[in-house]
Amino acid sequence: MNHYPKSIIKLIKSFSRLPGIGRKTGERLSLYLLHAPYAEAEALASNILELKAKVKLCSVCFALSDRDKCRICSDPARNRSVICVVENPADMAAIEKSGSYSGLYHILGGALSPMDGIGPDEIRLKELLFRAKSAGIKEIIIATGTDVEGEATASYISDSLKNTGIKITRIASGVPMGGDLQYVDQVTLQRAMEGRHGF
Ligand SMILES: [Zn+2]
Repeated sequence: MNHYPKSIIKLIKSFSRLPGIGRKTGERLSLYLLHAPYAEAEALASNILELKAKVKLCSVCFALSDRDKCRICSDPARNRSVICVVENPADMAAIEKSGSYSGLYHILGGALSPMDGIGPDEIRLKELLFRAKSAGIKEIIIATGTDVEGEATASYISDSLKNTGIKITRIASGVPMGGDLQYVDQVTLQRAMEGRHGF
């Protein structure tokens, strides 16, 4: 690699740090951009900067958003009495794509994992409990993963909301064990949502 000019080496190193991209792919992408039209390289660079400057977290549900309140939280057509709890934005995207849900979301930003030092304070559980106690919430659907961490998180939420009068449900087990929602097909996800059961 050292036979390349310094600016190419720098770009290869930047690409190599991205998930799923090794040195070889980094080299291929860098050489591609070197020969690509100027406008294409410029668009890539400015899209990355715009992403960093504009995308933040929704102040209500912590979804990715360009605005203070995300598209879903500001949509008057959504059912405001239901909150679906997911681990990350990709899970929320998967449920949205399945078209089986019309309520609000809460993105935890992970799952409980004592082994990795992730306790209740490391994910947005406090925020969820606060939201749950606000007026008008009738049901909380727990759609965390079906792996050990996801199940532990689901139990924690259900225990924390006991005696609040809020209906707590868990998406049905159509989702494979240990499965991440984002890899589950839309029909299965739809069934899992429709077949949700009391905790
Ligand atoms: Zn939101």
